[in-house]
Amino acid sequence: MNYAFEPEATPALPITGQTSLYPVRRIYCVGRNYAEHSLEMGGDPTREAPFFFSKPANTIVQTNTEVTYPQATENFHFEMELVIAIAKEGRDLQPEETAEYIFGYAAGIDLTRRDLQNEAKDKRRPWDTSKGFDQSAPCGPITPASNIQALESSRIWLDVNGSRKQDAKISDMIWNPFEIVSHLSHFFVIKPGDIVFTGTPAGVGQIQKGDVLTGGIDGLENISIAIR
Ligand code: MN
Repeated sequence: MNYAFEPEATPALPITGQTSLYPVRRIYCVGRNYAEHSLEMGGDPTREAPFFFSKPANTIVQTNTEVTYPQATENFHFEMELVIAIAKEGRDLQPEETAEYIFGYAAGIDLTRRDLQNEAKDKRRPWDTSKGFDQSAPCGPITPASNIQALESSRIWLDVNGSRKQDAKISDMIWNPFEIVSHLSHFFVIKPGDIVFTGTPAGVGQIQKGDVLTGGIDGLENISIAIR
């Protein structure tokens, strides 16, 4: 193909134990998936089915890179999340058939301009400016599902400058990864390269320039970024 200008490189993530990279096609995110975080955001965890929003694929940031404090916000937030990486094409899947569609898992941070999100909620506007900005999707290496025993008993945590801000269990998720992939596949044809941020536990908070954020999930590699 003869392009008018050189296209950007495909965003990609390292794969634990492999030299090849996982090329990112789409980034989906779940809005609310932990009861305590839903409550802290004013939601009702008992009645809401998972809902989805997305970020452009080129918002991916690999671990151990610097993130520039974004423009147009005075309330920049972290949201530590389990990330699912999709292995193959599917649609209208039942939860019990989704395991073979999951390539692996990673630890990610759904960076959010909370002030713009609150304004969007108030005015019933879309979330793109609050969620889909440059460098808004830091994500650690993907660990293949075949190398993972079980994540249900794993802790999910995030430290800011060494101080623990989020600390929960993956089993606290309202919808588990299989249910999330099932729900997603009823709205979109999922394809290899799609990743899904699965929602954050309670304890989200503000980020300042100079902060170092490190997050982990037992059994997966950490994600770490510095804000400049
Ligand atoms: Mn989130």
